[in-house]
Amino acid sequence: MPAPYVKLYVGDVIRTRKAHPCGGDVWVIERLGADVGIRCRTCGRFVLMDRIKLERRIRAFLQRGNEPPPAEPEPPKEEPPTKPGSRKSASPAPEPRPRRRIVKRARV
Ligand SMILES: [Zn+2]
Repeated sequence: MPAPYVKLYVGDVIRTRKAHPCGGDVWVIERLGADVGIRCRTCGRFVLMDRIKLERRIRAFLQRGNEPPPAEPEPPKEEPPTKPGSRKSASPAPEPRPRRRIVKRARV
């Protein structure tokens, strides 16, 4: 079963399953990429490690780094007020209907 994707951020402080030869097992992530650069907090040594390998070695996150803030939804753009006079009205004023006098003859 593939391990779930781990999000890593620069500044993360992690504890690894396998300790550094110096005895320290706490690292700070300093570089992200195909290889992740981590620095041993105990001896200060910088190590580049394959990201997948590192993800497997992470035992715990002690501190999260610069996690990008969640994308905020853009505020709705205000529509400019519609100007009624700006457009020439397509329909001219209705012409008066010619009046026809209809004389109704009362039928008897
Ligand atoms: Zn070390």
